[in-house]
Amino acid sequence: MTVSQHLMTSSVPIPDWWITDADSIERELTERVAVGESTRLSVSPGGRHVYAAYYGLAEPEWKGTANFNSALGAKNPDAYYSRNNRTRPVLCIIGGIHGHEIEGMASALSVIRILESGLDLAGNPQPELATKLSRLRVIVIPLANPDGRARVPYRGWSGIPQDEMTRWGQGTRSNGELYRWQPCKAVHPMKGDVGILGGYFDDNGVNMMHDDWAEPMSETTKALLRLVAAEGPDCLINLHSYSSAPGVLPTAYVPDSQQRRIDAFASKLYARLADRGHSHGKQPADLIGVGLASAEAPLNLQSLLYHVGADLPILFESPHGVVSPTAAPFGYEAILDVHHQLFELAAEELLAGRMVKG
Ligand SMILES: [Zn+2]
Repeated sequence: MTVSQHLMTSSVPIPDWWITDADSIERELTERVAVGESTRLSVSPGGRHVYAAYYGLAEPEWKGTANFNSALGAKNPDAYYSRNNRTRPVLCIIGGIHGHEIEGMASALSVIRILESGLDLAGNPQPELATKLSRLRVIVIPLANPDGRARVPYRGWSGIPQDEMTRWGQGTRSNGELYRWQPCKAVHPMKGDVGILGGYFDDNGVNMMHDDWAEPMSETTKALLRLVAAEGPDCLINLHSYSSAPGVLPTAYVPDSQQRRIDAFASKLYARLADRGHSHGKQPADLIGVGLASAEAPLNLQSLLYHVGADLPILFESPHGVVSPTAAPFGYEAILDVHHQLFELAAEELLAGRMVKG
């Protein structure tokens, strides 16, 4: 097996503050979290640690007597969690389920920095965002798949050809041929004919988005589901990246009421992004069923996170900033700003909802 390890250079310089490597993220979580608390969620197949940072007190006194699914069976969601009685709405942010999707990792670290110091990852004051986030309980998992991240030799993708990102993201066959998205999902766990094992996968070849739900292959998948079930987030943001303009994707197999809330959230986010000069993707409602030969969307981790207790599940796709005829050009400052808009909108929505609900 010979796989070219030749790396490409970009004309877009990577700022020093753009922290996305697994070791630096681990140091950030183990050494720099002081205002909040940091815990180890799981250990990856490659022996790497997955961390969560927590800000704002939990209110377990409002937990009910049933899991979410059974509470809905009782037609009594409060039997799971009386979320509306909580003083602090709960926002959960998960980054790096796919190890090459580094934009969400940097942006999740920025939330931690803002809550720790008021300064974002780039060192800029974010007083309004800090105030809003500090009124919530915020749970941040910046890097759910450190194995995948450790395998990808790039610190940033802005200005890099899209196929180079795809080579490291979805991986290659032994002969160097790109697996590409979505065919890379046709082998799972990803084993056998593998040249580069893509950042998509942990060291066992598992893509957590498509784990086995009856018997999850990944301990991190289990830990994420357990965490979300225990916390009952009022909003969960699952951070991913692709080559297009920033967008919210639909979440399959959730009630229509959730689909409408996701769509309304995307409308508000897109208006905000447009105001700041950023391009954006399509409405999630317009993407339902797109690209499917039939109506058979996968029941993926995003759906499961709703079904164990995450309200308002937002699957966000950041641009990588890669270069191709169809890609959206984005630099590092713009990518960080897009995420800050996303987090600020989520915080505002949760705080406004809480005021209305009294
Ligand atoms: Zn992804």
